[in-house]
Amino acid sequence: MSNSLFADASKRLEKALKYVSLSEDTIEHLKYPKASLAVSIPVRMDDGSLKIFQGYRVRYDDTRGPTKGGVRYHPNVSLDEVQSLAFWMTFKCAVLNLPFGGAKGGITLNPKALSKMELERLSRGYVDAIADFIGPDIDIPAPDVYTNPMIMGWMMDQYSIIKRKITPAVVTGKPIAMGGSLGRDTATAMGAFFTIESMMSKMDRLPSETTVAVQGFGNAGAIIAELLSKVGYKVVAVSDSQGGIYAKKGLDIPSIRRYKTSSRGIQAIYCEESVCSIVEHEVITNEQLLALDVDILIPAALENQITEENVNNVKAKYIFEVANGPITSAADEILATKGVYVFPDILVNAGGVTVSYFEWVQNRSGLYWTLEEVNHRLKQKMVEETNRIWAIAEELAISMRTAAYVHALNRLGEAREAKGTRDYYLSDR
Ligand code: NAD
Repeated sequence: MSNSLFADASKRLEKALKYVSLSEDTIEHLKYPKASLAVSIPVRMDDGSLKIFQGYRVRYDDTRGPTKGGVRYHPNVSLDEVQSLAFWMTFKCAVLNLPFGGAKGGITLNPKALSKMELERLSRGYVDAIADFIGPDIDIPAPDVYTNPMIMGWMMDQYSIIKRKITPAVVTGKPIAMGGSLGRDTATAMGAFFTIESMMSKMDRLPSETTVAVQGFGNAGAIIAELLSKVGYKVVAVSDSQGGIYAKKGLDIPSIRRYKTSSRGIQAIYCEESVCSIVEHEVITNEQLLALDVDILIPAALENQITEENVNNVKAKYIFEVANGPITSAADEILATKGVYVFPDILVNAGGVTVSYFEWVQNRSGLYWTLEEVNHRLKQKMVEETNRIWAIAEELAISMRTAAYVHALNRLGEAREAKGTRDYYLSDR
């Protein structure tokens, strides 16, 4: 078996193709990225030495509009990973009916090993290297793992310096003061929350009777844990890269978030005002978290977390993929035979790119929306597309993942075929 993440990602496409009627043109196009760029970024380090970092940007498909996708800073970043993430973005934008194609970028590094000034020089250097590959009507980067609003602000600023004009719409996920959208910071989790709420009500499940475990306590994971606990779900376990905590009675997520912000770790604490105390809990590994007997499991860290090796340990009834690609295609098959409902990344975490789209619209119109307006529009889109995918899954008796690909493929096919297909050109010969 190939170890390529992209080869594995492509299997989802092959499966969905059985349920759609698309032109050969569309299918051929979707097998290959439109353009891939690999760059070397020289950075002057604080100790005076020069270090070269490897960076990537892949624009996978722009049939439906300029391409859109985050930039990841992580030691595992590779061209294969960036290409897979760009592939998923193509389908995600189509699922949400956004006028965008898919892209992704990344730099191979351990961001925790760099000072803030080194990170700024690296981020500006990355934009210097890819400036001709991006643009508000070409390709629009955004945050992903270990990149944040300040980094997006540096990137927008650097692009504006190069082009000699302020260009807020070139990057989304910026600080509010630099043209960012209200609600972008919580958008991924908020979108996932709307999908979870829609599906749980279809399943007749009450929050108070539903236990949840969340892997990854970053931008997406910590906020989804908090949103769910606020409306009564019992979040019993959370984890980060160092490991996790489990408390059968449920965890106090706001206190844990406050602790994480001040100390960078996670701790099972309960705070009243400024007085915090440790509560009864078990320290668990990430593997143990994935195997907990909970109703809902939310992988919100990185890809390839549930694989053929550990899938048989999974006991959750519902998995909502907040991370991109946390389940391999082989593990997916096994989960299906076990009757586990898997709600796919290209739907569940699409709230982030949806509010990025709203940010781009606001930047281009110069008219800025209230938080209520952003969240209202986000809810409308997430609920509408979740219901459509559910209906496709029911009608064709297929998984929610395959249904989401079918939904996206129909939209991608329509856009591609509007330009003419073999049948069109040969019809009057
Ligand atoms: P982040 O950097 O804010 O957080 C990542 C979290 O995962 C951190 O808490 C980190 O400690 C933890 N982590 C890293 N390795 C881990 C491991 N092996 N086991 C458990 N935890 C681990 O990143 P994020 O923005 O929250 O992104 C998380 C996932 O969500 C990624 O797959 C990303 O592609 C996806 N996503 C994010 C957004 C967004 O807008 N932030 C949008 C769509 C998808």
